[in-house]
Amino acid sequence: MTAPALATPANDLPPWIAAQTTELLAQRGHAWLLAGPSGLGQYPLALALVRAWLCEHPTPQGACGQCGSCHAIDVRTHADLCVLMPETSMLALGWPLSEKAQNEIDEKKRKPSKEIRVDAMRDAVEFSQRTSARGLGKAVLVFPAEDMNNVTANALLKTLEEPPGDVKFVLATQAAHQLLPTIRSRCLWHTMRWPGAAEGQEWLQTQGLSAAQAQQALLACGARPQDALAFFQSGRDAGAWSGFPRAMARGDVSYVRDWSPAELLMGQHKLCHDLLAVSVGASPRFFAVNDLLPSASLAALSQWGKALTGQHRTIDHPFNPGLLLEALVTQAQRALTATP
Ligand SMILES: [Zn+2]
Repeated sequence: MTAPALATPANDLPPWIAAQTTELLAQRGHAWLLAGPSGLGQYPLALALVRAWLCEHPTPQGACGQCGSCHAIDVRTHADLCVLMPETSMLALGWPLSEKAQNEIDEKKRKPSKEIRVDAMRDAVEFSQRTSARGLGKAVLVFPAEDMNNVTANALLKTLEEPPGDVKFVLATQAAHQLLPTIRSRCLWHTMRWPGAAEGQEWLQTQGLSAAQAQQALLACGARPQDALAFFQSGRDAGAWSGFPRAMARGDVSYVRDWSPAELLMGQHKLCHDLLAVSVGASPRFFAVNDLLPSASLAALSQWGKALTGQHRTIDHPFNPGLLLEALVTQAQRALTATP
């Protein structure tokens, strides 16, 4: 799967990201924290900022997209850019790992890490003390910043507190409340803006979705365009999403056989959220009203919601994914068919 809005030129950004790029570039600041729920474009915005900072011919709108620096970023070889991400994200987004890390993974000594590793943070601290290779300063991009553990966060904090002169930081997060308060207070805060409904819809159509597909994907993802695109690209079809609540109510494991436990858990969370919303007279957010079967027991629903939250913490390390899918579906069916 290719990642969206990745090596795209600055002028090809979604309109709401382009507008925020211009706005942030007009302000001074050596460390930005881009915060908001997932799927609003933290990563593309962070990348647009560092491209502009390092560009040889930047405009108020951002990087030129033509110069040697822009090209070096697009091919992931810029000596003055340090990207800190969990290794799984680095690989997914096409960023090279350090030679040491890549060797360890190639030799199967370990799996790619799902958090930002201490080794990588050490490299970043060392990076920020080096002189700029291209003479236009340096940049550190951290995403998602909540994937730093306490050790890595404290190492970064030292550098944020006493930044070497020519380095700028952009931290992008989907869970700002999980960051150390000291990290938050060292950064200028930017709250990611929600695109207008029409804006998100139009952008998805430029990414190859039909109007109906865009509408359905946006619905499934709570109006977050980047998430909607990922949902569409993962091969989930819109019809399957609208049939999901009924499949859960009848305990149909085959319906989600090719889903990962994490995906299923997320889907069930959304379903539970919507049913609770509807039960108190609010509008559902992720499903169309007609896709939802009224549920009889509010107590069973809220208990289910609590169970899902607990399971969320361990979902990345399932003992047996197949069994876990079955257990999750059974649990859902019980909650959805409980009598008051
Ligand atoms: Zn450029």
